[in-house]
Amino acid sequence: MANQFDVVVIGAGPAGYVCAIRAAQLGLKTACIEKWSDDKGKAKLGGTCLNVGCIPSKALLDSSHKYIEAKEDFDKHGIKHSGVDIDVPAMLARKDNIVNQLTTGVTGLFKANGVTLLEGAGKVLSGKQVELTRADGSVEVVDAANVVIATGSRPIEIPPTPLTEGLIVDSTGALEFQEVPKRLGVIGAGVIGLELGSVWGRLGAEVVVLEAQDKFLALADQQIAKETQKIFKKQGLDIRLGARVTGSEVKGSEVEVTYQDANGDEQKLTFDKLIVAVGRRPYTENLLATDSGVNLDERGFIFVDDNCATDVPGVYAVGDVVRGPMLAHKGSEEGIMVAEIIAGQKAQMNYDLIPSVIYTHPEVAWVGKTEEEVKASGDEYKVGTFPFAASGRALAANDTHGMVKVIADKVTDRILGVHVVGPSAAELVQQGVIAMEFAASTEDLALTIFSHPTLSEALHEAVLAVDGHAIHIANRKRR
Ligand SMILES: Cc1cc2nc3c(=O)[nH]c(=O)nc-3n(C[C@H](O)[C@H](O)[C@H](O)COP(=O)(O)OP(=O)(O)OC[C@H]3O[C@@H](n4cnc5c(N)ncnc54)[C@H](O)[C@@H]3O)c2cc1C
Repeated sequence: MANQFDVVVIGAGPAGYVCAIRAAQLGLKTACIEKWSDDKGKAKLGGTCLNVGCIPSKALLDSSHKYIEAKEDFDKHGIKHSGVDIDVPAMLARKDNIVNQLTTGVTGLFKANGVTLLEGAGKVLSGKQVELTRADGSVEVVDAANVVIATGSRPIEIPPTPLTEGLIVDSTGALEFQEVPKRLGVIGAGVIGLELGSVWGRLGAEVVVLEAQDKFLALADQQIAKETQKIFKKQGLDIRLGARVTGSEVKGSEVEVTYQDANGDEQKLTFDKLIVAVGRRPYTENLLATDSGVNLDERGFIFVDDNCATDVPGVYAVGDVVRGPMLAHKGSEEGIMVAEIIAGQKAQMNYDLIPSVIYTHPEVAWVGKTEEEVKASGDEYKVGTFPFAASGRALAANDTHGMVKVIADKVTDRILGVHVVGPSAAELVQQGVIAMEFAASTEDLALTIFSHPTLSEALHEAVLAVDGHAIHIANRKRR
């Protein structure tokens, strides 16, 4: 029967489309349902990540970084120019082209792998049936031996700052400003707030980031967080911690924001644009029939076990709509695991080694345990650090801010965490992920040859520093 599949995936974001491709590769008859379409009714695949998340934000981060380098750093290389300018619509058009290239690429991958794309909204009924409602209102029921829910997440809105067209915006709106705002407010000093604040800050906006928590980057290693905060301050990002936004008032083309500062005093600030980036929530609207049997947890995420199985046999959920970090690579790996489990394989996922990256400049990235977590565990540990200021490659690149930090178990020497703020932090941390996947000790990495001159050597030196053997910095005295 045409409307009967081995696997029906709902949602074509990084969790859903990857799951669908892997399932098809494994010989399963697979359909993927996606409701996102453009103004012309053409399906848009790739979810939040490709359309309004990872990729467009990185495109703008890279463009704005080149601009600020040209403006502030070219003269250090002896490169003279008579001033640089930014054409914001051209920058946005480049981003849109990249997005289009990648989203149509997913359509091509579906075709190449034999995944059937069903355009419309999916709803999980009982008995592993999925109701598909197309844009024209027509409804069809699809039978699935297995259902995978991958409906993702949405930005959280907060009552003090209701969104307005083009003035108070969420992350999607912040990727679309047609000109550089003079004064930009960002609520939330998380990954998204810092990345979008950086983009517009580099292009000339005066940026104030209001963060309710007292700690900066509370989930990161606090030595790295402090170093990062110092660097951002030098870059001109005005990050105010303990700042609780209580209200906003739109006054013409401006917005006045009221917040309570760390001392409990009321403060007011006026902005030309305000980005609300306080977090994201799982998206399950109109997804589950009342008798679907699929349950949510107390925070609204679809309840799943370690294998992403819901309470209904044969129904799985992956990505942002389930517990765990809201990251594209986490969702994709869950999608692969589920496709392989459905195909009868014994797949599992290592939730301990999901790397985190903030794509500011310098980048911030980490994997494994922070020093705070290791300390709290009570295990004895050792730490090695290495500053990029001592890296020949970083000096050559005029990119010397930040450091690498490696934490290892004092008894077994096993690497427990790698934390980096600095150039190519994500790539260096990825080397840590690979090492940690193989349960490497610091000695294993110490004995490895790293090319010279490379930024990777900073990881090598930090590993050597763990036991006081770093060559290119003075080691702390050991007993
Ligand atoms: C500005 C920004 C920057 C980000 N940068 C990064 C980054 O650099 N790295 C990173 O790892 N992560 C990043 N993220 C997070 C990343 O985008 C998400 O973790 C990822 O997209 C989650 O994938 P997903 O497949 O679970 O959900 P989504 O990508 O949200 O996809 C869900 C899809 O399901 C569809 N859908 C929902 N309900 C239905 C339904 N009933 N029927 C049919 N279709 C439906 C939606 O239309 C959507 O296409 C960023 C997010 C934002 C907002």
